[in-house]
Amino acid sequence: MKVIVIGGGASGLVSAIFAAKGGSEVIILERNNTCGKKILSTGNGKCNYWNSNYNLQNYHSMNKEFLPQIITTKLQDEVKIFFESIGIVPKIKNGYYYPYSNQATSVQTALILEAKLSGVTIENNIYVEDIIKQENKYYIKTNNREYFADKVIIATGSKAAPKTGSDGNGYELVKRLGHSIIKPLPALVQLRGNNNYFKQWAGIKQDVKVSLLENDVFIKKEKGEIILTDYGLSGICIMQLSGAIARGLDSGNKETVIINFVPWIGDTPQEFIKWMDNRSKKVLNRNITELLDGILNYKLVNLLMKQSNIKKETKWLKLNEQFKLTLAQNIIAFRQEIVSTNSFDKAQVCSGGVPLSEIDPRTMESKKSKGLYIIGELLDVDGDCGGYNLGFAWISGILAGKHIAGDN
Ligand SMILES: Cc1cc2nc3c(=O)[nH]c(=O)nc-3n(C[C@H](O)[C@H](O)[C@H](O)COP(=O)(O)OP(=O)(O)OC[C@H]3O[C@@H](n4cnc5c(N)ncnc54)[C@H](O)[C@@H]3O)c2cc1C
Repeated sequence: MKVIVIGGGASGLVSAIFAAKGGSEVIILERNNTCGKKILSTGNGKCNYWNSNYNLQNYHSMNKEFLPQIITTKLQDEVKIFFESIGIVPKIKNGYYYPYSNQATSVQTALILEAKLSGVTIENNIYVEDIIKQENKYYIKTNNREYFADKVIIATGSKAAPKTGSDGNGYELVKRLGHSIIKPLPALVQLRGNNNYFKQWAGIKQDVKVSLLENDVFIKKEKGEIILTDYGLSGICIMQLSGAIARGLDSGNKETVIINFVPWIGDTPQEFIKWMDNRSKKVLNRNITELLDGILNYKLVNLLMKQSNIKKETKWLKLNEQFKLTLAQNIIAFRQEIVSTNSFDKAQVCSGGVPLSEIDPRTMESKKSKGLYIIGELLDVDGDCGGYNLGFAWISGILAGKHIAGDN
């Protein structure tokens, strides 16, 4: 049996390795001059390839009901065993798995080597232009030559980070084979606003709590480091909200992020007012700016004072109740309207893609075209930061490969 894997990224490489275990001839067609280019950018070059706190709540899809059949505990164990078997020793930080070398190249190299040792042929610089089903075979047209295969695995990724090779062309390939596509939108991406104070806060990093409101209704919250930028907001806690925000904006909803710059003081303006009352009694002869110095970046203090219409040198105990409340609200519940996200270029992943309802969740085989498998980010599944996206690439790749090898 001849198996062709289209796209030698994270999911494609793993699917090829597992498919080859069944004795089939397996060929990866990869448009870049090497496989796994995107793996190199992951985890800031360190490749956060897994997470010990594996939970379906970390995944988003229009058809979440299929996820328990795909992401089983058995497969989660299998991923960890697989990586150890190809020589990757994990370094685990707060549940996040990295290769002990702290280098994403270790993961890329180990996967390519394992593919070669398993007998997989890798053909680089081959761009697949079309896949046509001809009776029981697939005809594959490329920029170079034609191929025929009994089974095809499509692992072309999404539209995120197109410079790495995944530019969304895979959506067109699967559409022509009868699949539909849930509109791809950037996820794990920075958020943009439209305010004149961004230049003032650019570069500030702060540990915060952020809440997302959609049409002024609370949706969810996250905590962690925020990075304030000259276009709006970045940082992991912001990225975690971004998928929901992109979809909300696309549906015409109003999306607001509420930032609590001092979550350790409390969640309500009243708690902040009480804290300042105490502080001004303990730390004497200071104005408000001086009292806030040391707990917030001074540029942020200046900006929040200005937004609250309070003069820098004002003393807290002299401030009237209304101004106290305004400042407290700006510090505990700063409202930032979001107008857009950054584009696919800056996104780590995409939400949307091929609906899970169109594939068999136990094997990744297409329900539209027998012998066709769809895996990885091309599917409508996106995960939170923390190794969940590569995690899905490995799991879906193993499922397809094993099915072809007659192992599940
Ligand atoms: C900056 C950044 C950081 C990230 N960090 C993390 C992280 O730390 N942890 C984590 O879990 N996830 C991370 N991700 C997400 C993760 O990298 C992806 O979810 C994962 O790589 C998706 O795997 P895939 O196999 O579906 O697609 P990809 O890895 O994108 O692979 C698709 C492959 O298909 C090839 N291809 C496309 N079209 C064709 C064609 N027509 N013909 C031939 N070849 C084709 C592409 O060149 C590419 O090699 C990060 C992503 C980015 C951009």
